[in-house]
Amino acid sequence: MKIALCIKQVPDTTDIKWTENNTIQREGVESVINPYDVYATEVALKIKNEVKGSTITAFTMGPMQAQDMLRKVLALGCDDAVLISDRKFAGADTFATGQTISRAIRTALPDFDLIVCGQFATDGDTAQTGPSIANFLDIPQVTYVQEVIKAEEKALTLLKTLEDGIETVKVTLPALICVMTQKFEPQRAMINGIISASKKEIKICTMEDIGLTPEKVGLRGSPTYVSKAFRNMINHNAQKHKMNVTDSVNLLKEKLQVK
Ligand code: FAD
Repeated sequence: MKIALCIKQVPDTTDIKWTENNTIQREGVESVINPYDVYATEVALKIKNEVKGSTITAFTMGPMQAQDMLRKVLALGCDDAVLISDRKFAGADTFATGQTISRAIRTALPDFDLIVCGQFATDGDTAQTGPSIANFLDIPQVTYVQEVIKAEEKALTLLKTLEDGIETVKVTLPALICVMTQKFEPQRAMINGIISASKKEIKICTMEDIGLTPEKVGLRGSPTYVSKAFRNMINHNAQKHKMNVTDSVNLLKEKLQVK
């Protein structure tokens, strides 16, 4: 099975900076792998173990510094890595991101069977990128995947979280899945893995490599635009209405009309 794994670098949440376009500034900012993508990686590795002969190619769209994250997943057992990087990709919304990543997968891994994404990224947090990639590639998608019950060469059986229950879904490949946090603890890279990852070549895909034009990518290719981003400040007016316990009880009695 040929697996494409989509992972994203997100800013360390205590250190967010904004650009003049109200997008998150990523270059020169301390970054970590998106927590849901840690589980996406684990799920891809689990499927690779179950279906003999499988390979995993990790994809990320981001600045050059995202190569560090790709090396980390190579050290864990991914086989290849592709960095989708071009200054023209900056400011992409989920539509442009989905289009760009789907093109890169088509270019670098045209005969893919499965695409594994995280359910959310902790910065943009739209949960739209996975479904958007599936849409551009015209393949089925299963979101909110809680567990992979069975992996076969041509199908996956999955547990999917619903608002008020759990569903068992069997999907025929090629398909895309978006995974939630899983029951198991993510593994750590072994020294052999780290050494072999340091020698691997990371393929770089630019806009031209994937056959897109400037009006289809980045801010120009994005139908949505974040006009304002701000923190919702807590209203401290409650401080003005401080009262002692007896007054609080009396007020409560009055409101509840208790004698
Ligand atoms: P999600 O869709 O939440 O990510 C889900 C999964 O997709 C990830 O776990 C990962 O597997 C995969 N993935 C996501 N990005 C990448 C990547 N770069 N490389 C590889 N895999 C990836 N965009 C909109 O279209 N609409 C909005 O309303 C919107 N609001 C925003 C608000 C704010 C405050 C900010 C900062 C950004 C907003 N964006 C919005 C832009 C959005 O953050 C980016 O377009 C982003 O790339 C979309 O993904 P996400 O962070 O929402 O990821």
